[in-house]
Amino acid sequence: MEKLKNILSIIDHKGYKAYKQLEGRYDFEDFTLHIDHVQGDPFASPSRLRARVMQTKAVFSPELFSNSSRKTALEDYISRAFNKSLKQECRGSCGTGKSGLINIDSGGQEILKRTSCMVNSDFVEVRFYAGLPARGRTILGNHCLEMLTGEVPKIVAASMFYRSLDEKEMKKHIQICEDQDYLRGILEENNLVSFIKNGSILPRKSGISDSPLPESEAIAFKSPAQLETTLKAPNAGNITGMGIPRGVTLIIGGGFHGKTTLLKAIERGIYNHIPSDGREYCITVDSAVKIRAEEGRNIQKVNISPFISNLPFDKDTIKFSTANASGSTSQAANIIEALECGAGLLLLDEDTSATNFLIRDEIMQKMVPKDKEPITPFIDRVKDIYQKLVTSSILVMGGSGDYFEVADTIIMMDCYLPCIVTEKAAELIKERKDIRHIEISDSFSFITSRIPLPSSINPFRGNRKRVKSRGLDNITFGFYSIDLSAVEQIVDPSQVNAVSDIILYALRKKYINGKNILTDIMDMILEDIKKYGLDIISDFKGRHPGSYALPRKFEIAAAINRLRTLKVLQAS
Ligand code: ADP
Ligand code: MG
Repeated sequence: MEKLKNILSIIDHKGYKAYKQLEGRYDFEDFTLHIDHVQGDPFASPSRLRARVMQTKAVFSPELFSNSSRKTALEDYISRAFNKSLKQECRGSCGTGKSGLINIDSGGQEILKRTSCMVNSDFVEVRFYAGLPARGRTILGNHCLEMLTGEVPKIVAASMFYRSLDEKEMKKHIQICEDQDYLRGILEENNLVSFIKNGSILPRKSGISDSPLPESEAIAFKSPAQLETTLKAPNAGNITGMGIPRGVTLIIGGGFHGKTTLLKAIERGIYNHIPSDGREYCITVDSAVKIRAEEGRNIQKVNISPFISNLPFDKDTIKFSTANASGSTSQAANIIEALECGAGLLLLDEDTSATNFLIRDEIMQKMVPKDKEPITPFIDRVKDIYQKLVTSSILVMGGSGDYFEVADTIIMMDCYLPCIVTEKAAELIKERKDIRHIEISDSFSFITSRIPLPSSINPFRGNRKRVKSRGLDNITFGFYSIDLSAVEQIVDPSQVNAVSDIILYALRKKYINGKNILTDIMDMILEDIKKYGLDIISDFKGRHPGSYALPRKFEIAAAINRLRTLKVLQAS
């Protein structure tokens, strides 16, 4: 600390560059502060710092991080506690640009594996950011001293020691996270693809907020008797709710009755949620992929022939490539690409689907003969996909009863509550005279794998590497940008940040080498992350990688698939 004071008194009122002298390690009474990287000027991305407390002082007992669920939850809890206490202790903006600001990447409604905190049996480390104070480009030494030796120690004291945290709340955070991972793990043996606990609050506060609708305004979820199941969680014990079985499930119901809200909860059930989210016991298999239409996207040699054939001008659909997909071709490619990476559950909503991809009714079958219609609609493939590829589907479909024919389970949303109408639908089908006929002669039993070519994934712009993520849906990659706005299961900007560095990592490690197929590449990357931690994807030398959150293989592959320069070979 004395060292820090000395340097600051020397560089006070000097030009901003003198701050570089701060890089290094400082021992405080209860922790060490590492200044890993100092920003170039007050407007640049803030400086990267770490605080490390040895376990001899932090004393988190080993059972709080004894398995990967607990570890992720504890790290998440500490990041949030750090964030909460910095909101109290950090005086905030003082001077130019980001001067005086401290922040940490602490996440939203989901509990994700992230790099902002690391706990092991030796130490607890928090990685955070600080805008070193300046007026113009002149160093404000006193402000900096107050920030680093006043504010930071207080924040550390309030959040990085077991004794300073709320024991009950912390344990709940950990237990709920462990329960969610456990339940997700036993869905399959229970023949389920998703589970929603009775009492869950599914609707969100607004279209731009992911917080729950206040309980006074929300109808709590209640399973229909036919699907009610009880699962046993390690901490919460028996939990009763709606189990959605494998196969083809339809969600129907009138407009504004809560269909999309239910599907969204299922879609987010691949992640663990914080206590009080309302969806903390909405659990979905982690191979669930939301599929939507995505007009304009780039597609590289995807075999969409199960859905699209006989295009005008004999355009190849076995190796279908386009720089400007239509609604239906994009949705077909999104499905095939998801299956290529091993999707076990497809989630579709009529709100975001191409109508002609979903349905083709009997009257249209008469009007436009099959040989004039390139599209084999999803309705004709959905059973095949389940029977041959064992991939289930859940579809929101309020606008057409045709799907009654192919659904194993039909859930009707009525004033935000689900009921089962599978039998009633079967009766209605029997009464029907004019029935659409299935228009497939072949069966869809394998997916063509693809090999991405490294030369087509170029992070350079001239001789400078230029890769940067922005928000939830954009990555600048070399000369191009990757649009992830239709990849709906990305929930955190730090996942996008991780995705962009993972692509670089896969190039560096030569996993993308012109031989490996895409899904194997994803597995190799995730295997490394599991073994060495999420830090491994960073090539920052000496800078902490403080804002990664773990994405799934589907989202990483989605980014590669959307790179407009991508070239692939189809594997034989
Ligand atoms: P649909 O897809 O059936 O047209 P949505 O799922 O979009 O309907 O829901 C319509 C509206 O109802 C949304 O504003 C949503 O937030 C709200 N809503 C959904 N479920 C509930 C619920 N359980 N309690 C209260 N409001 C809800
Ligand atoms: Mg809807």
